Amino acid sequence: MLRRAIAIKAAIGFGLIAAIGLAASRPALAEDVALTFDDLPVYGPRGTIDDAQATTRVLLKGLIRHHLPATGFVNEIQLDGADRVQRIQLLSDWLDAGMDLGNHSYSHLSLSKTPIDVYIADVAKGQAVTSTLLAVRGRKERWYRYPYLETGTTAEARTRFEGWLADNGYRVAPVSMENSDWEFADRYDEALARKDVAAAARIRAAYLDYTGRVVAWYREAAFGLLGRRPSFVFLMHASRLNAASIDDLAKILRHQQLHAVTLDEAMRDPAYAIPDTYVGPDGDEWLTRWSLTLHKDLPWASYPRVSAESEKPDVR
Ligand SMILES: [Zn+2]
Repeated sequence: MLRRAIAIKAAIGFGLIAAIGLAASRPALAEDVALTFDDLPVYGPRGTIDDAQATTRVLLKGLIRHHLPATGFVNEIQLDGADRVQRIQLLSDWLDAGMDLGNHSYSHLSLSKTPIDVYIADVAKGQAVTSTLLAVRGRKERWYRYPYLETGTTAEARTRFEGWLADNGYRVAPVSMENSDWEFADRYDEALARKDVAAAARIRAAYLDYTGRVVAWYREAAFGLLGRRPSFVFLMHASRLNAASIDDLAKILRHQQLHAVTLDEAMRDPAYAIPDTYVGPDGDEWLTRWSLTLHKDLPWASYPRVSAESEKPDVR
């Protein structure tokens, strides 16, 4: 370690050495993480009900097998159609598996591109089935996840909407870790649609490689920003890709020493009390928002890129 440090110091100067010293002093055990899956019942192109059932079953079984609590965020527009009863059953399956469900708006609108009255009506419409499923189990729908993480281009819209959320018993579910899984999932679904098994396997491998690196980046970046290890809220999607990858995702979490907790538990971390005053078009996660509040930069130069062809692993 010392020899390596000296070599690096000689090569690129003292700033990095300070960072390495900081890394070496960290405790052995790492952070808590709450897993969240958006766009329930199933992310991606609407397939057959058999396909949706298989995706849900594999994903939930994996979460249970690896003792990973999770919260799913529902777009109830997906329930519309001839197989409505079966699609509603998929949401019941999540609850019966011990998971929680939250609201992700009815039709996945952006607050930054939608008049506030239309947006609120859409979110209200999006709670009908999910809140009932929770109520019959003696529970309440309590979490809202902004589609695209877009929180509005005016302070007035956001203040008004978050007032509506509070009046209706909701809290915003932030995101402090993400792995661009939807980009890989889109290509994976395209490969499955053309029955290209080899491409699907390549995309999945690239996804897992990227996930390992980006999770490590978030851990480093959060430590640098906050000076301690926060509890993360990890955004993924209820995709075929994640269903097929759940064992490997669990392995990545273990390798990163991340300990899965519920969203409620993660949200007790004081980091989530840091004000988020960002107003604008960007759908940023909360690490970026905190960095704006705290006037501290994140190490974007080392952020792992998703290649344009997501099926190709990044070259660092
Ligand atoms: Zn979404």
